[in-house]
Amino acid sequence: MEDCIFCKIVKGEIPSSKVYEDEDILAFKDINPITPVHILVIPKKHIESLNNIEPEDEKLLGKIFLTIKQIAKEQGIAEKGYRVVNNCGEDGGQEVKHLHFHILGGKKLGTKIV
Ligand code: AMP
Ligand code: ZN
Repeated sequence: MEDCIFCKIVKGEIPSSKVYEDEDILAFKDINPITPVHILVIPKKHIESLNNIEPEDEKLLGKIFLTIKQIAKEQGIAEKGYRVVNNCGEDGGQEVKHLHFHILGGKKLGTKIV
């Protein structure tokens, strides 16, 4: 997608602090971290939101979650725990319209999500 900021990051047109990359997935540090560890995991292909995933994306989504598990381990937060967040659509507070999962960790998080 031409004016999608995360597609631009995938193409290298906007710099990012990458923590993981393969042919399907990119993970990078959130530019405005809200926790000591705050990483975004995205599919390289443009999918607008969770509302737009298709059965053909089943493997990709499984791979994203295995990647999240791996990144959490590498970042040293796996054992103590962390939170994975997806904001979907207007009420969900989604600002960037390219599917992404936040990995939040490195401190004790509140028990309430909202
Ligand atoms: P969301 O509200 O779920 O759409 O989250 C979008 C996230 O993208 C926010 O946490 C932003 O801080 C983050 N973000 C926006 N632009 C960039 C960027 N260029 N590099 C890294 N993270 C970004
Ligand atoms: Zn995109």
